[in-house]
Amino acid sequence: MTATPPLLIATTNAGKIREIRHLLVHWPSLRTLADLPPTPEPEETGATFAENAALKARYYAAYSGLVTVAEDSGLAIDVLGGAPGVHSARYPGATYPDKFRNLYASLAPHPRPWTARYVCAIALVVPASRGSEVPRFECQATVEGEIWPEPRGTHGFGYDPIFYYPDYGRTFGEVADAEKLAVAHRGRAFRLLDEWLTTRAESLR
Ligand code: IMP
Repeated sequence: MTATPPLLIATTNAGKIREIRHLLVHWPSLRTLADLPPTPEPEETGATFAENAALKARYYAAYSGLVTVAEDSGLAIDVLGGAPGVHSARYPGATYPDKFRNLYASLAPHPRPWTARYVCAIALVVPASRGSEVPRFECQATVEGEIWPEPRGTHGFGYDPIFYYPDYGRTFGEVADAEKLAVAHRGRAFRLLDEWLTTRAESLR
């Protein structure tokens, strides 16, 4: 059996890397940006999660020469017109507790429930010397929930302590990694990619 080529997961977010390593079970050889010399991050100028995922995958595939998977994700809150959306990582606040306080201030005038969803878009790009820069694989997945009126739990990362998942009756901050991955946006999207990879190994060599 021929060895699978390494796949670059183009992120430095430790929370995302931990989850993705659990999800790409059929691809043993994963690299992350921490394995490469540092390079400036591309500006995330896309208006959508899908555009940002594709631009990051193109940029890091060209930089690394490796088959590259990038994801763009975030939290979209209905009464805030989908904010913070593609700006989730840059939402005002130096720490997540600060971001939560700022979000609660914006949400306070609106009646509960504050319905929301996490979104995760993925793009896989093969470097230009070996093919087109058009993503070979793209998908997007979501998980529906609501913003809980106070942070709960210490699991997960980012907005997880305030993202309440009704079927569990808890926030993602209160559930184990495996429980979150079973239902959450990144779990759903990366399981689709993992399935696709099982049948496409040859075309990526
Ligand atoms: P980006 O994809 O690097 O632009 O950042 C996405 C941002 O969305 C993260 O930094 C978090 O703030 C938020 N986010 C995305 N997925 C999750 C998640 O699973 N849990 C908590 N926060 C998330």
